[in-house]
Amino acid sequence: MSLMSKSILKMISELAESEGLDGWGVSTPPYDVEGFLESWVRKGRHGKLKYMENNISTRSNPSFFFNDLQSVISFALSYSVGENSKFASYALGTDYHYSLGEKLHKIAQTLEQSFGGKFFVAVDIFPIAERAAAAKSKMGWIGKSGNFILPSVGPNVFLGEILTSHKLDTTENKSEFMNCGDCTLCIDSCPTGAICDDQTIDVRKCLSYYTTEIREVPPENIRDKYDGIFWGCEKCVLVCPYLHKNIIQNKKTPLSDDDFENFPSLTKGNFKKTVLERMSKRKLSINYIISETTSSDNTTSFTNNLNTLKKLYMDDPELMEIITWAEKKHGQ
Ligand code: SF4
Ligand code: SF4
Repeated sequence: MSLMSKSILKMISELAESEGLDGWGVSTPPYDVEGFLESWVRKGRHGKLKYMENNISTRSNPSFFFNDLQSVISFALSYSVGENSKFASYALGTDYHYSLGEKLHKIAQTLEQSFGGKFFVAVDIFPIAERAAAAKSKMGWIGKSGNFILPSVGPNVFLGEILTSHKLDTTENKSEFMNCGDCTLCIDSCPTGAICDDQTIDVRKCLSYYTTEIREVPPENIRDKYDGIFWGCEKCVLVCPYLHKNIIQNKKTPLSDDDFENFPSLTKGNFKKTVLERMSKRKLSINYIISETTSSDNTTSFTNNLNTLKKLYMDDPELMEIITWAEKKHGQ
């Protein structure tokens, strides 16, 4: 191990700990994902995520956009989980793009000041196979659910990377037990059968995809499975035996009960710095209508709110179709 690499790794370890990160590892690209991504896209399992059809080579080798790239440092940040009928746990509190991004920028800056060279933060900015990079670094593994499992925490982690022009000694040779074994709990618990047998998700069946990724309204057979959720689904996370339960305390939901009561009057300002910020009111209205329609305890104002949304979207055939569906379900 070169002296420089040793010093950088020591500082990474110290900085990761002081920033409250739960794991880190170093790998060298390329990552062996091109074949399986192509097959996933060919089968149409990426749904309407058109961007996944592009940059497949770049995902497997980020050197395409970072010429001097020598090493990729992967980091994991855990989030607390808890039962919440409307929001997946990761959506509570500040959007992780801010919290993890801020931590990695601090680390990259300190490393660059101390050692020179380039340290570049790549949290959701560039197409990079981040789970494959983290798995190659032996920080953990990709579970059957497609979620990355950090053994000390579980599948409830965000991943981020710092790309560097320094050639670092990798952590790729760690020899710990890293796989799901015979467990199939996530596959068995998925309400829509979205988990495929090759550690991938058919997003056309995934509730997370429909609530957080696309603007279109989901088909009826999918809507019926919402069971009151508004944003994200984490059934496959909550059943994982590697999940170290760390119950959420005092974390703000992006929308309160009062917000749901007054849903039609909400504006962009209500979603600031939450995961909902990048979504349109139209998209959130779709989520709201399905969530309330399939919830066992929908808010008292839902009928009135539905009437208001009906006036608001009277020229939008997709929204009108889903409003009619909701009215039928409520026997109106
Ligand atoms: S997020 Fe929900 S719908 Fe999607 S794969 Fe996991 S359990 Fe299935
Ligand atoms: S629930 Fe079981 S099969 Fe699924 S990711 Fe966790 S350990 Fe792997």
